[in-house]
Amino acid sequence: MHNEKTIPTIQYGTFSQRVHEQAAARQHVIKAQLELTYRCNLHCRHCYTDPYNSKELFSRELTLDEIHRLLDEMQRLGIVWLNLTGGDIFMHPQFFEIYDAAYRKGFLLQLYTNGTLFTKATIERLQLMPPFTIDISCHSVTEESFDWFTQIPGSFRSFIRGLEMLKASSLPFSLRTKAMNWNRDEMPAIRQFVESFGQEFEFTTSLSPRLNGDLSSLTYRMAPDDVVSLRGNQPATDGNEESCGRSADLLTPATDQLYRCGCGTDTIHINAWGELGTCTLQYERRVSLRAHPLADAIKMLFREIRGLQYEGTSPCRTCEIHTFCDKKPSDARWECGTADAPIPYDCDVAHVRAQSTLHQSLIHPLHRIHKEMEAHHD
Ligand code: SF4
Ligand code: SF4
Repeated sequence: MHNEKTIPTIQYGTFSQRVHEQAAARQHVIKAQLELTYRCNLHCRHCYTDPYNSKELFSRELTLDEIHRLLDEMQRLGIVWLNLTGGDIFMHPQFFEIYDAAYRKGFLLQLYTNGTLFTKATIERLQLMPPFTIDISCHSVTEESFDWFTQIPGSFRSFIRGLEMLKASSLPFSLRTKAMNWNRDEMPAIRQFVESFGQEFEFTTSLSPRLNGDLSSLTYRMAPDDVVSLRGNQPATDGNEESCGRSADLLTPATDQLYRCGCGTDTIHINAWGELGTCTLQYERRVSLRAHPLADAIKMLFREIRGLQYEGTSPCRTCEIHTFCDKKPSDARWECGTADAPIPYDCDVAHVRAQSTLHQSLIHPLHRIHKEMEAHHD
């Protein structure tokens, strides 16, 4: 008779909490987001990667060999959660080769897709090796608005067809909404649609400039009062993209650190050009993974990001309501010229949120600075 060893099972929530606690104690990276390509079949009006969805630029993207090398390196580092994103992942000509390799390495795979490219063959392939989750963008549930926003006629029908196939497949998926000024009035209908799949309605509100610095995506921002009335006092809730572990809390003093969120702790982002960052929209510092092994690049990058400080007279430096604010330094550089600068829109949203949470009248952070300067000159 031989001794059979069994591995004890635990609830996913307990497992996740333990891994996060151990990562924090040992300063380990456990989560990675890998942009496989900037190719996409849609051209959503708010999309930050869309300017790089261009034939002339595809040759700059990671090769299959480079992606295999990165998967090996991520496995050696002990990364647990791997998010594959784009562009749209299914536009990558060798997507399933990458997916199979990542699956066999044991990552918990989270796929981001627009949901319009599912076919019977894709679904069957995924059923053989199911991902941990599939996240699908759902910004509209009316054909006219959906197709206007994606700029591709017929995309809504493909989206609905994809969702129906997914629903029938039993693959795990969830719908994610970006609330903007053009779909604001559609929120109740989107909520109803999402809930009809037995899912919780989740949305985010922040928009960023495009990767080439184009600011046209920001014209779709919701008015600050609408953000707060829709979101209540909750922070933006997209862990990978928006809030980076930051939580809206009571007034706490600001530090000089440029990144007051979780950037540079347990998560990495690799863009389609092989540049390592600390999150999707952190472009203050990037390290080329074509020039450096991943482990070395992470050390270099995290040290630099954690060392970046406010140096000028920016109101962000002493801002009393910074815990209510979604400002991202790279957005500030693109929108306002420097990473130190306040983003007036984020100031407005933070101000409305702070007042509504704390039930008190607060001085707007930009007015506070003007008042302090006036007092200084008197
Ligand atoms: S589906 Fe995603 S990647 Fe494609 S254009 Fe829309 S936002 Fe961009
Ligand atoms: S609210 Fe304005 S001043 Fe305060 S941290 Fe945010 S962007 Fe800076």
